[in-house]
Amino acid sequence: MQNFQFEPVGEVRNSFDSPEDYRKIKEEDSRVVIYDRYTEALTGIEENDYIDIVYFFHKSRKTLQTDTPNNPGVMRGVFATRSPKRPNLIGVTTVKLMRRSGNELLVRGLDAINGTPVLDIKNCDTSLFAYEYDNNPVHRGKLKGSPRIDIRNEIHSQRTESLMIKAGQIHGHFCPGLAMGVMAATYAMNEKEAESDGMEDLLAVTETNNCFSDGVQFVTGCTFGNNALIFKDLGKMAFTLTKRDGHGIRVSSRAEAREVINEAFPDYQNLYQKVVEEQNRDPQLMAAYRKTSLERSFGTLTIDFEKLFKVERVEVDIPGYAKIYESVICRLCGESVMKPRTCETGEGYVCFTCGGHSYSLLDGNGISAG
Ligand SMILES: [Zn+2]
Ligand SMILES: [Zn+2]
Repeated sequence: MQNFQFEPVGEVRNSFDSPEDYRKIKEEDSRVVIYDRYTEALTGIEENDYIDIVYFFHKSRKTLQTDTPNNPGVMRGVFATRSPKRPNLIGVTTVKLMRRSGNELLVRGLDAINGTPVLDIKNCDTSLFAYEYDNNPVHRGKLKGSPRIDIRNEIHSQRTESLMIKAGQIHGHFCPGLAMGVMAATYAMNEKEAESDGMEDLLAVTETNNCFSDGVQFVTGCTFGNNALIFKDLGKMAFTLTKRDGHGIRVSSRAEAREVINEAFPDYQNLYQKVVEEQNRDPQLMAAYRKTSLERSFGTLTIDFEKLFKVERVEVDIPGYAKIYESVICRLCGESVMKPRTCETGEGYVCFTCGGHSYSLLDGNGISAG
């Protein structure tokens, strides 16, 4: 049989020098000191809120069965427990990473004693929990009946942080623009007591195609795909929410909004200057930059609404419901195409692509002729 040898990467420091009830040890924050030769392995660790510490129970002994503080006198196989007594004396504990200072991590919830050799540290994997939560059959049934039920509840209770986390799933990153879209849309939805059924009875008119609009799309449920999103290529961080009666509410960002956000997060400004403007690529500085950047994005949600936005009542010209057009087959490429997007040639329909016809194009630069 193969034997393995491990070399510690660091050690635990706290005030418990000998084994104790693990619950007592957990109550005190511990420091995990990583040896200098492993410094590189810490790069970016401060961006994690929770990490797993893998360590060696250096004062324990090997056994196969034990009782535990929760069930004294009841013997169990150690594979069914978290006991420090086990055939391989390895401990794994998920902890909250409070702070990194150089090679020292301040962690909460660790149940290892002073001097414990640390074998490894990992970013905590919660994907199975996330999967099982999403697959909760009762909740899943509810979502099938009303896909926006969670979003609706969150709008109503103004839980903008939860909304932003979900909006980030379509946006791909977190930024103050997304936060502002979430805030503006949450405000307007509550103000109009609106709810989107994805059937064009609630319309959002957005005036920008930047990050802001993803927050608006997610929260209002008015999207490109359900024809309830109208895009005016005006380059303003603003949107209007309206029902079919045309009485809309327009929420626009104040001219000074950017300064308000910058002033609220001075650390970000300093790091931005070093990392982005001066191109300082020090890994610890970059990790700190990413962390403060995230704090600034979510922190934007906590800034007073009135400091960032202006609200006005407006009348909106409501377009007709999106027409359902007949589909025809392009005689050149054989693809199915919406009839008004074809040229009739007498011999049949030809799509704009095959016919070399001009069409409108929306991309990062706005709308143009493609
Ligand atoms: Zn963004
Ligand atoms: Zn074609």
